[in-house]
Amino acid sequence: MSKPGRNDLCYCGSGLKYKKCHMQADQEQEKERSLMDRAGNFIRRDLLKFARDERFAEEFAKTLPLYWDGYYDHSNAEQMSQPEALRFFDWFTFDHELPSGKRLIELYAEENMDNLSAQQQKLASDWTGVGAVSLYELTAYEGQTLQLRDYFTGEDFEVFEAGGRGNVELGELIITRLVPVFDHTELSTTAAYLPADEITDVKAKIEAAKEAYLAEHPDASHVQFMRKHSHLLVHHALLEAKNQGRPPVVRMDPNRPDTKTQKIARGMARFKR
Ligand SMILES: [Zn+2]
Repeated sequence: MSKPGRNDLCYCGSGLKYKKCHMQADQEQEKERSLMDRAGNFIRRDLLKFARDERFAEEFAKTLPLYWDGYYDHSNAEQMSQPEALRFFDWFTFDHELPSGKRLIELYAEENMDNLSAQQQKLASDWTGVGAVSLYELTAYEGQTLQLRDYFTGEDFEVFEAGGRGNVELGELIITRLVPVFDHTELSTTAAYLPADEITDVKAKIEAAKEAYLAEHPDASHVQFMRKHSHLLVHHALLEAKNQGRPPVVRMDPNRPDTKTQKIARGMARFKR
C-alpha cells in the first residue's frame, strides 16, 4: 500500500488533506510497530545469548541428542546448520522444562525484566505464555500472510512471515511455534515443514503419545502435553527424511538468507567437551 503525500486528500474520505487528518496517527502507529519489531529482534537475540550461558551447558548436552533423536549431540553440535541450531534453541527456551521445573523463558523474564524497555517487557511477558511448537497446515496464503490451521486442535491463525510460504504447498505442514508481536502473529524462528508425502502417520503418533501422557497426567492441557512432546515432531521429520534419502528437516525456504543468525552455529563449539 503506497502512502499518500502530505497534501493529498486523506484515504479515509474526510475531504481533508492527509497532513491535517490521519498522517499523525499513522506515523505514531508506524513508530510503535517499528519499536515492537526491534524489541522482537532484541528479545530473540537476548534469549539466544541467555540460553547459551555456561550454567545451562549441562542441560544443553543432555537434551541435544533427545531433541535430535541422536542425530546431533555435544560432540557434533557445531555441525548443526544455523536454522537447525535456532530451532533447537527455540525448543530449549520455550518448551523444555529445566530440572528446577521452570522453562528458560520463564527464568529469563524473572531475571531480566528490570533491564528491558517497555516494548521488550511486553514481549518477554507475552512470550512466557505462548504455546508449544506444533504442526500447522497451510490452508491459504497471500504474499507474506499465511493462513495456518493447528493440525491437532483445528484452530486457525493468520500469520505474518517475511519470507512468505517459501516452498510450502497448500495442505502441507509447517513445524513451528506462533508468537504475538505487536498487532500480528509471527513464526518464532526459522520454521521447518513436512512435504505432503512425509506427513504419513504423524497425527497417529502424536495422538498415541497424548493418550499415554493423559493416562498419567489426567489434568494436563494440550499445551502442557505439546511442550513435553514437540520434539516428537522433529523425530518424525528426521525419520521421514531418512526414508527419502535426503538431509533432515526441510526448511520452508532453503534459499532464504539468514543474515541475523550467522554466528550461532559457530558459537556452538563452546559447548564441545
Ligand atoms: Zn483521514
